[in-house]
Amino acid sequence: MIPLVKPFIPPREVLMPALEAILYSGYIAEGEPVYEFERQFADYIQNPNVLALHSGTDALHLALLLCGVEKGDEVISTAMTAEPTNTSIVMTGAKVVWADVDKANGLIDPVSVRACITKKTKAIIVVHYAGMVCDLDAFGEISREFKIPVIEDAAHALGAEYKGHPIGSNSPYTIFSLQAIKHMTTVDGGFLTFREPANLPRARKMRWFGLDKGKSRLENDITEVGFKYAMNNVNATIGLEQMKFVRAIVEKYKSNGSFYDSNLRGIDGVQLVTYSNNTHPSYWLYTMKVEKRDEFISALQARGIMASPLHHRNDLHSIFKDSKKELPNLNEFYSQLIHIPCGWWVSDENRQYIVDAIKKGW
Ligand SMILES: *Cc1c(COP(=O)(O)O)cnc(C)c1O
Repeated sequence: MIPLVKPFIPPREVLMPALEAILYSGYIAEGEPVYEFERQFADYIQNPNVLALHSGTDALHLALLLCGVEKGDEVISTAMTAEPTNTSIVMTGAKVVWADVDKANGLIDPVSVRACITKKTKAIIVVHYAGMVCDLDAFGEISREFKIPVIEDAAHALGAEYKGHPIGSNSPYTIFSLQAIKHMTTVDGGFLTFREPANLPRARKMRWFGLDKGKSRLENDITEVGFKYAMNNVNATIGLEQMKFVRAIVEKYKSNGSFYDSNLRGIDGVQLVTYSNNTHPSYWLYTMKVEKRDEFISALQARGIMASPLHHRNDLHSIFKDSKKELPNLNEFYSQLIHIPCGWWVSDENRQYIVDAIKKGW
């Protein structure tokens, strides 16, 4: 079976000596490997303002707090995502306000977001779902016009581009995840990146109880409570080894995605998605819409290919019942949504086989 997701782990002979060295080095908490990983990641996304964290969820939580989100506020978000995008809003005590999606691609719709803005709106989370980039032209305008910060959830979108630059420096805040099944994994880990460097000193303290790592424990005075959100040297060491492969790995996702874009065009019962202006996806999952989805899934399964909608639309969870509303475009998109394997493990032969399997019909 060709799987939909699969962690890339660097070859044993590269990873194991580095891991063994750090594990027995006597320093496994946050230290120099974390800072070196931050520098290399910053170089990759072309933004020096990055903070390594224990998870993408931690990055979302910190971004919301840095936006000043608290109990009684509202945060506009999308249900078409993984749960942490929205459970992190609940963690702050704020209310999730659902915007609808663009039914052509399932991405949060700027027109719907405008209609959701109230005096209580403190932040807007846009999710680059499955590696497709949201309409950042429109969200930039909304953010400037209403003076509301945008947080980009780029957990699926490492290496995706806006105006020819990697995602990670367009909005005040962008979050990345290094969880097991993302483009790049450190087992668990995340990054929060900032457009403005001024955020960094406060954010650094917030990842470590509120303590200033630049001072000794005795000279420290916690003025704002922080969290246990730091990355450790062991995860960072895996990250440093991953950095040697990440460009080639992301390139493979993109090359497979472009192949499907050209070779799945014009098939009866398949509707391809459209991508936002000035963007290039990084195809964490290949996304399309199909008729008779259950039959499509069974037919591909019989041919050894996994196909699935993967995520559960978040608005159906009980914790979001106070946010309930009609989302007609999401209803339509979600009933036809399907993902097919697109990642680094899908060889040139595999992708041709997948196209042929779909062309046989279902
Ligand atoms: C994985 C994921 C996250 C959270 O990342 P973790 O590193 O698992 O905490 C956030 N948003 C989306 C869309 C994700 O897929």
